[in-house]
Amino acid sequence: MNKIEHIGIAVSDFNAACSLYEKLLNTGVYKVEDVESESVKTAFLQSGPNKIELLEATNDDSPIAKFIAKKGEGVHHIAFEVEDIVAEMERLKNEGFVLLSDKPKLGADNKLVCFVHPKSAGGVLVELVQGIG
Ligand code: ZN
Repeated sequence: MNKIEHIGIAVSDFNAACSLYEKLLNTGVYKVEDVESESVKTAFLQSGPNKIELLEATNDDSPIAKFIAKKGEGVHHIAFEVEDIVAEMERLKNEGFVLLSDKPKLGADNKLVCFVHPKSAGGVLVELVQGIG
């Protein structure tokens, strides 16, 4: 894995969270995107070399709605950039990690993504991301 690509934060009030993180990081949201496959609305902020992704549920079945119901707002996942997501998924599967999908999915920010189940990753939801241009 190359580096942390972004940190995902679950929020319950999208506009309030955008304002809060804009103030905190002293920079504006540069992109807002709906990811229908995951039932989330996302906002991205850049802080130096680091990226923060805010995630709000767009319906009650969204993984973000379930996360907030259980744990409240806060850090939701850590995303690592990989060069070859299929090879990395295969490697992790062989190491005994549980992946949440068999194939990469199209995620926010024009990336192929796959999540690793937190139960197999020390309680942390890990996202693999590969840019597709
Ligand atoms: Zn993410």
